[in-house]
Amino acid sequence: MAEFAIAPAPVPTVPVEGEAAAFPVRRILCVGQNYAAHRAEMGGDDRAPPFFFTKPADAVVPPGRDPAYPSRTQNLHHEIELVVAIGKAGADVPVDAALDLVFGYAVGVDLTRRDLQAAAKGAGKPWDSAKGFDDSAPISAIRRWAAAPPAGRIRLSVNGQSRQNATLADMIWNIPEIVSEASKLWKLAPGDLIFTGTPEGVGPLVPGDRVEGEIEGVGQLTFEVA
Ligand code: MN
Repeated sequence: MAEFAIAPAPVPTVPVEGEAAAFPVRRILCVGQNYAAHRAEMGGDDRAPPFFFTKPADAVVPPGRDPAYPSRTQNLHHEIELVVAIGKAGADVPVDAALDLVFGYAVGVDLTRRDLQAAAKGAGKPWDSAKGFDDSAPISAIRRWAAAPPAGRIRLSVNGQSRQNATLADMIWNIPEIVSEASKLWKLAPGDLIFTGTPEGVGPLVPGDRVEGEIEGVGQLTFEVA
């Protein structure tokens, strides 16, 4: 009989800016189509509220590591997103109390196998292989944050060329609304990350591309597609 070692799985972590302790990732929730211009470029329905999908916790790629180009796709896309790090448990949280759960914010890229997503959409099948693959969630260090949510520019460039350049103010659902809604669908707990959707300008990446993302006041994220 084969021998298997039974050991606890390692917990993925994201650094916290200026601190020795890292943020242990419990799970990753993602909002779809939360900017009107991106919803339009995806052919989304203007009347539909934004929706959630998930990635596994070990999809995170902390700063300093490069994500691998995934298998089985010919069309890997970048989606820069503000990421909310949850630091307090909560369920059914009203909008006006939602910010109490927020530990801080980070810059993330929701990497997407766009061809697999389009095929799944067309067939009414789930998105997991299009969104929740290995290395699909590069992220910056988390910045602790107690004030009103970030509201500045959100930008991404590839090899020095601007691809996405918008403002967080263009979000359809704001941060308290997203956290509140997520808490009605799941019990939120410390370690949860919420990707809050991407603005327009998503596009393809190929191996060797250098990706630079920035959210004003939150931080920067740089990686190369390996
Ligand atoms: Mn996204």
